[in-house]
Amino acid sequence: MAAIVTNWAGNLAFHASDVHRPASIEELRALVARSSSVRALGSGHSFSDVADTRGALVSLDALPRTVEITDTGVRVGGAVRYAELGPTLHEAGFALHNLASLPHISVAGSVATATHGSGDGNGNLATAVSAIELVTADGDLVTLRRGDPRFAGAVVGLGALGIVVGLTLDLVPTFEMRQHVFEGLPFDVLDDHFDEVFAGGYSVSLFTRWAGPVIDQVWVKRRDAERPEMFGARPADGPRHPIPGASAEPCTEQLGVPGPWYARLPHFRPEFTPSAGEELQSEFLLPRRHAVAALRALAEARDSFAPVVLISEIRTVAADGLWLSPAYGQDVVGFHFTWVKDAALVRAAVKTVEAALEPYAARPHWGKLFTVPARYERMHDFASLVRDFDPEGVFANDFLRRVM
Ligand SMILES: Cc1cc2nc3c(=O)[nH]c(=O)nc-3n(C[C@H](O)[C@H](O)[C@H](O)COP(=O)(O)OP(=O)(O)OC[C@H]3O[C@@H](n4cnc5c(N)ncnc54)[C@H](O)[C@@H]3O)c2cc1C
Repeated sequence: MAAIVTNWAGNLAFHASDVHRPASIEELRALVARSSSVRALGSGHSFSDVADTRGALVSLDALPRTVEITDTGVRVGGAVRYAELGPTLHEAGFALHNLASLPHISVAGSVATATHGSGDGNGNLATAVSAIELVTADGDLVTLRRGDPRFAGAVVGLGALGIVVGLTLDLVPTFEMRQHVFEGLPFDVLDDHFDEVFAGGYSVSLFTRWAGPVIDQVWVKRRDAERPEMFGARPADGPRHPIPGASAEPCTEQLGVPGPWYARLPHFRPEFTPSAGEELQSEFLLPRRHAVAALRALAEARDSFAPVVLISEIRTVAADGLWLSPAYGQDVVGFHFTWVKDAALVRAAVKTVEAALEPYAARPHWGKLFTVPARYERMHDFASLVRDFDPEGVFANDFLRRVM
């Protein structure tokens, strides 16, 4: 009997009893062409059932791990992870504009769910994509480039249009960063200084357990040598993990030590288990103009969800034009929750958070746990694009049927 295939968190056993690992694009095309139901699995770090299928689950891990720097950016194969991409780009003198909290994730899977880092001027990771190469339902190979009217719908594609075998990403010149951690930012500071706190670095993250009127930690990643003032928060006297009290060994270097972008932008090092390991996650992103009101609404409701929180992270993401990006058309703030690994307790907590954020047009992260309908003004256009690409629903799954 085939082993049960689960996601990284272990909260989801995929319906597929096995994973296909084609060794060439031709093999993949033939597999897709003869399948009535098929879906790509990236590195399996989503908590939602976005990657699940009752048909054939396909990993691209056995395909060549292409990383090809060209005049227009870097072209990566469908299974390449950020952890292997970062050092290669740096050695060649290049960088990506941003990374998520962990480098373990695949580029294609991250782009498909609009995965993001933080930074007022930084769009999510999908905004770096300039071309996308897909194996479509009939086994054809199709390339869409920025400028094609379908492109903005296809990039954050939830795996619905086909299997992505190549992505071209924009590059910037490589850069060094320094990371500073501050502790004990009074919550009230955010009422009047939210924008200044987030302007404190290239990428800023606030961490709170919602246990009291305090932001436990502020992580500031800067491209210069200056350490900002943080409104009364104290500079940490040693390295920290976002979860107070946890060993900082898995975390990227702090205390203002300079290092390459790929070793500072993520919070976690690739050779360690990121975050808590035993956990579930949710995240809701809403228009930045509602940030302080939403913070207040969550603080008021905190007694009903804080006991289930390991840590919560607040980040900013710049507006983009990708149809299914939570930042479509507007700068957003993301409220992320790392929960204890207890599905029933977490479901109740998620509902409380969703109710508190309901007035602020919050959109859930596609790869994390949510129960509300995802409200997207371009969802109708996306559904029509999916019908054009995949009229028979070869890439459809329960998740897509729920959200579309
Ligand atoms: C510890 C931890 C920390 C995280 N931190 C962050 C964070 O900082 N910011 C953030 O935004 N998110 C974060 N996430 C969520 C994570 O980035 C997303 O769930 C992301 O989609 C994971 O990428 P993956 O390769 O594992 O994708 P999977 O979970 O494997 O797949 C996600 C989706 O992409 C599709 N897909 C994957 N590969 C392909 C392909 N080749 N072609 C077509 N479709 C494909 C799948 O079908 C599925 O629909 C975190 C998750 C974990 C576990």
